[in-house]
Amino acid sequence: MNIAMAGAGLSCAVIGRELAEKGHTITIFEARSHIAGNCHTERDEQTGVMVHAYGPHIFHTDNEEVWNYANRYAKFQPYTNRVKSTTQGRVYSLPINLLTINQFFGETLSPDEAKSFIESKADMSITDPQSFEEQALRFVGNDLYEAFFKGYTKKQWGLDPKKLPASILKRLPVRFNYDDNYFSHRFQGMPLEGYTAMVANILDHPNITVHLNSGFERSQVADYDHVFYSGTIDGYYDYEFGRLPYRTLDFVKKYAEGDFQGCAVMNYGDEAVPYTRISEHKHFATWEEHEKTVYFEEYSRECEPTDIPYYPINLLEGNELIAKYKDKAAQEDNVTFVGRLGTFRYLDMDVIIKEALDISLCFKA
Ligand code: UDP
Repeated sequence: MNIAMAGAGLSCAVIGRELAEKGHTITIFEARSHIAGNCHTERDEQTGVMVHAYGPHIFHTDNEEVWNYANRYAKFQPYTNRVKSTTQGRVYSLPINLLTINQFFGETLSPDEAKSFIESKADMSITDPQSFEEQALRFVGNDLYEAFFKGYTKKQWGLDPKKLPASILKRLPVRFNYDDNYFSHRFQGMPLEGYTAMVANILDHPNITVHLNSGFERSQVADYDHVFYSGTIDGYYDYEFGRLPYRTLDFVKKYAEGDFQGCAVMNYGDEAVPYTRISEHKHFATWEEHEKTVYFEEYSRECEPTDIPYYPINLLEGNELIAKYKDKAAQEDNVTFVGRLGTFRYLDMDVIIKEALDISLCFKA
């Protein structure tokens, strides 16, 4: 079959590779000047540091099949994401763990004591948390919510956490031990040569052709037997029902000598600090040495038509628009919408790979 793909991010790369190996001819159209979508990495010219151009990406998964898949195309270095948060004039450990609790409340609690202590702070009248705020109040109580989540989330999403679903906060664990690994997955790491090299290896197959700086138009669908579309689903339909809501990010790049903040990611919980976090990318490559350092202040704001969409905004009360677009998409015979923008879901890289492998397996030529 003659198959086209819109976008050279992880979704289309994985599907393209799987289908190329089955003998299909794959033509990929990528509007940007590079492959790998938002996990694109490149060396910063001034410092030589490998920069995650669209913000920090840490590969983590519980799925051994996905981990093995990623390791087939990249050599992974051990990496554990340990995030810090500056809030109310102090620095704490994230995700909320026993060190965070003891330092925040000036206590020396044991795990069991901390559990009882937090339960005494938590709003146990919330039995089935629906919103982000309810989830926070139920599991950590108001003090920790205000310090770590309320301001950060307002900055990140531009919305009151009452309007956001509990699922956003459920991404983060709360631990009553000193484990400060941000993720609870069995496998975690960072590709030695960056994500773009990994995606390049996935795409390196004689049946795959990639056109950079080439957008894909709906009118091209007729030229192919099937199309996998990883652009925005509302964009595909020329925004006929209106625009779906996204957050975009602005990164302000800065340089320093040596070590700027001592860790890869420092979150800022206070609403008064305009950025959500600062990431210092040389700390993502712990095996490299660089004299200078480059870091990025990260600002979140509403996505305007000419901005790059990052986070789909899924509200607690749902979104009629996305339902309309998904209905329309379901009626397409030879177009499959994939990935974060094609399905309007915030997906981690491992889920993208898993879904792409499943889609490839189900694809009937
Ligand atoms: N969050 C927060 N404070 C933090 C980190 C995260 O309030 O210091 C909230 C925020 O709403 C975020 C969500 O928890 O969107 C999930 O966090 P995660 O780190 O998974 O977000 P990511 O940066 O991966 O999108």
